[in-house]
Amino acid sequence: MSEKHSKLTFYGGTGIVTGANFLLEIDGENGKSLRILVDCGFVQGGSDSHTLNAKAFPYEPNSIDILFVTHAHLDHVGKIPKLVKDGFKGIIYSTRTTRELAQVIMEDSARLLLKDAGNNPKKVIYNEEDILSAMRLWKDIPYHTKTDIGFGVSVYLKDAGHILGSAMYEFSRSGRNIVFTGDLGNSPDLLLPDTEKITDANYLLMESVYGDRNHESKEDRKQKFVQIVKDNIARKGVLVIPAFSLERTQIVLYELDEMVEQKLIPSIPVFLDSPMAIRVTEIYRKEMPNGFNDTIKKDIESGDDIFSFPNLKYTLTTDESKAILGSPNPKIIIAGSGMSNGGRVIHHEKNYLPDPNNTLLMMGYEAVGTLGRTLMDGAKSVNIYGENVAVRAKVANIQGYSAHKDSDHLIEFVEDTKDTVEKVFCVMGEPKSSLFLVQRLRDYVGVNAMMPKLGESFDLNF
Ligand SMILES: [Zn+2]
Repeated sequence: MSEKHSKLTFYGGTGIVTGANFLLEIDGENGKSLRILVDCGFVQGGSDSHTLNAKAFPYEPNSIDILFVTHAHLDHVGKIPKLVKDGFKGIIYSTRTTRELAQVIMEDSARLLLKDAGNNPKKVIYNEEDILSAMRLWKDIPYHTKTDIGFGVSVYLKDAGHILGSAMYEFSRSGRNIVFTGDLGNSPDLLLPDTEKITDANYLLMESVYGDRNHESKEDRKQKFVQIVKDNIARKGVLVIPAFSLERTQIVLYELDEMVEQKLIPSIPVFLDSPMAIRVTEIYRKEMPNGFNDTIKKDIESGDDIFSFPNLKYTLTTDESKAILGSPNPKIIIAGSGMSNGGRVIHHEKNYLPDPNNTLLMMGYEAVGTLGRTLMDGAKSVNIYGENVAVRAKVANIQGYSAHKDSDHLIEFVEDTKDTVEKVFCVMGEPKSSLFLVQRLRDYVGVNAMMPKLGESFDLNF
């Protein structure tokens, strides 16, 4: 077979955590090429994110053959309905769980877009109809099954251990392999199996959110969480946890369930105040025990419902949500969004931040430009819905619950394939994180690593 070439272009998610969008053009016979996208996500955080998300694609959507989706987070799926609206007619592939979760995430996104557009349906980036059109193109692809996609190329999915359904995509042709990691899980994870190893990549496109730092230890994070809950109970305060609906919420519920079961804390009212998190949790329940790690599988088999415990209330309606304010303290409120850039958590922040007995606990990545990041950076007052709100509550943050690998574990991940890898593209991180990882990979692993520029293309021997 004559030597073939492919071109990889970074249309999003480089030099930035969010907005993942990569185009792989694979040369075939007779001048034809297979045009593959991996992920099509929203940019999140920053004053220009809406403008960026509304912008036309830098390629013709109807020229794309297949879109592969690594996992259901908004920064990987947010722009899919727009892709379809703008002419994409190919196939969308992901695991079944990712497809189901992505629909929930995109529908929530459509609601927020409509709200942001002042309820003017003519001004939205996409609507529910566009999501349904996308769902009609969507096909499931299982883990650990080689699937031919034409041009002599096959794809194989491995578990990324990041959120339920998350997958790494390994494309192979003539013994050459390109791997797209999507986001990589912080294994060992409380709920999920470990990230699988990659040992034979020639090209590796990997995330680098925490490329420049390590997480606190997993023992420390639980202790810290228990202590924050206990202190808050002692002050009869309200503990507000802005939680990502997908994965973080389920982890927090699992930890609280365990704390009560292990009698580390008394049972106090816990409100899951996020319609989206409630829907996502239902999908987690439905998938059980598929996709969970062995410990959880045993828990489930022994009859433990890991997402429900006495005193946990799912508040679906607006009225139920508003009633939380009148319920007695101490209490815990878990609400979205995780970066406090939308959702019900903002109302709770407005209500509870001025009281020093309360605690705001952040447990994940807060993008630059979001209210969550401003609070995390120590603001003494914030503007919420045009009102100046004093921040007297304790603001805590536990980063050990991140769903991403930290710097040491990213290095370890690459070490498994250092003998075969010719180029590592460090993406999906802020520049300082990606560049720090690039340097560490060059110095400690001895591989050719780099951070591509937005819009930059590379010819690959594939
Ligand atoms: Zn993710």
